[in-house]
Amino acid sequence: MYRNEDILFLGTGAAQGVPASYSPRMCGPFPDTRDIRSRSSIRIGERYQIDAGPDAWYQLLREQMSWDRLEHLFISHTHNDHLYLDGILQKQDADDHDQKQLAVYLSAPALDWLLRTRYYGQNLTAPTESDIADLRARLEPCFSFQTLRLREMYTVGEIQVCAVPGTHTGRVADDVALNYILQLSNGFRMLYGVDTGYYAPETVDFLRGSSFDLIVLDCTFGARTDRGTKPSGHLDCRSLVRMVEELDHAGCLHAGTQIRATHINPDQGWSHAEMDRFFSGTGYPIATAWDGLRLRATGASA
Ligand SMILES: [Zn+2]
Ligand SMILES: [Zn+2]
Repeated sequence: MYRNEDILFLGTGAAQGVPASYSPRMCGPFPDTRDIRSRSSIRIGERYQIDAGPDAWYQLLREQMSWDRLEHLFISHTHNDHLYLDGILQKQDADDHDQKQLAVYLSAPALDWLLRTRYYGQNLTAPTESDIADLRARLEPCFSFQTLRLREMYTVGEIQVCAVPGTHTGRVADDVALNYILQLSNGFRMLYGVDTGYYAPETVDFLRGSSFDLIVLDCTFGARTDRGTKPSGHLDCRSLVRMVEELDHAGCLHAGTQIRATHINPDQGWSHAEMDRFFSGTGYPIATAWDGLRLRATGASA
């Protein structure tokens, strides 16, 4: 039974998924199924989701869920593993959907990219501003698109949402990945930091004093040690721990804070169990997420 306060990791893999399609490892065996990772996405209750990549259909089927009850979709950035445009827009083609608009939240550059890409894909010519307005009107029965400004708090349904910048850009230069702070109606506060590298000092300052019950961070490059102490673009196990230390010093952790690593690359060197072994020696409550992991938004693991 899926509850409104459930947080569900739909996927925990980076762009290629784990293992990668061109790798012989695709053929198995898989002694630990937590090492099979679809593209990263997280569902919060039935009504909220962050990101919808190319595995969204499979993830819903696996969890015996649908997007019928989904009302608010937050997109981090335009990379395909987070924004599977054709799949999201298929609401227009479903005969038996709920006839309500799905609210899609994203940055202004990401929305501009989305509309231009959709128009070009259908017409093979660059759109004018009036073409974009017409396209938006055609999508209106199924979708409302809402752009988010960084570091501003929005009320979305029953939750509060604020986007902070990851150090990661999508398909266009100014599409800075949105990392999401969500505060649920019961007061549970979470940070979903995917994709990102090490936060800029201004972002840590913005987060200072803001206490989280759950922090989910990008750990794309897992075991790799060649990316510097404060890498941009993506984190690895060691820089993730450094990021957590800095967030701890900034007052973002409390005694019950849970921390999960996600968005994991197939070629970074460590299995799920090896990553967890590393994290268990850090003194922080960090563990690696897996596809299908459910957490109660009360702090206790379900
Ligand atoms: Zn990604
Ligand atoms: Zn990305």
